[in-house]
Amino acid sequence: MEKREKLYEGKAKVLFATDDPDLVIQYFKDDATAFNGEKKGTIADKGVVNNLMSCRLMQLLQRVGLPNHFVKPLGGREQLVRRVEIVPVEVVVRNYSAGSLVRRLGRPEGEQLARPLVEFYYKSDALGDPLVTVDHIELFGWAEDDELEQIVETTHRINDVLLTVFAQIDIQLVDYKLEFGRLTADRGVIVLADEISPDTCRLWDIHTGQKLDKDRFRLDLGGAAEAYQEVARRMGLAVER
Ligand code: UDP
Repeated sequence: MEKREKLYEGKAKVLFATDDPDLVIQYFKDDATAFNGEKKGTIADKGVVNNLMSCRLMQLLQRVGLPNHFVKPLGGREQLVRRVEIVPVEVVVRNYSAGSLVRRLGRPEGEQLARPLVEFYYKSDALGDPLVTVDHIELFGWAEDDELEQIVETTHRINDVLLTVFAQIDIQLVDYKLEFGRLTADRGVIVLADEISPDTCRLWDIHTGQKLDKDRFRLDLGGAAEAYQEVARRMGLAVER
């Protein structure tokens, strides 16, 4: 497998083509942004942690029958993934209230929700990723009814797995964001794509409530790099610097 030209550069990742049109390389950067790109910085070795953690969680999900784009780790900051057309909807799952649920709806931070809450945001930097309903998604053709049904069902199953995985390492999975895509090689079959990392999850220490995720950067709490390393350590990931 040969690494070819850069296809796309996002805020935290770069995608490279390979000699196989249906496979791409995801490269994870240390760059961090928040508030729709207004706040910029870097978190040392974040790219390595996010790559390893995403590889581990995607592998684990595949083993329990939850298909995703992951193919294999390539070491360091890179992983090989199947090429997808990303569904332009971010799926946010909440188990406890935090972030925009506190800001927008005034819920007390850390309140356990009676059941997992699934929300959709339209992926648009220009519009600031607005909250949308199932009706918007179907009406504007961002996903078909059956695709969305599959996305929601898969999301609940992913949540069950992730809650258990993090509980085992004394981490409360507060909320997180998922992205799904249509496989270019497989008639548009919907799979989980993108990443699962402290950039896209809120992870709190079960005992102390300490934030072990990107909120350390967003809220200028300090110790962001150390928090990412701590999550990696608890997951038993060997982060080479
Ligand atoms: N999230 C993300 N990317 C986004 C928006 C949210 O990864 O563009 C994640 C975020 O890290 C958190 C969850 O989704 O774990 C819920 O985020 P929320 O809606 O509370 O927004 P925020 O408070 O981060 O603005």
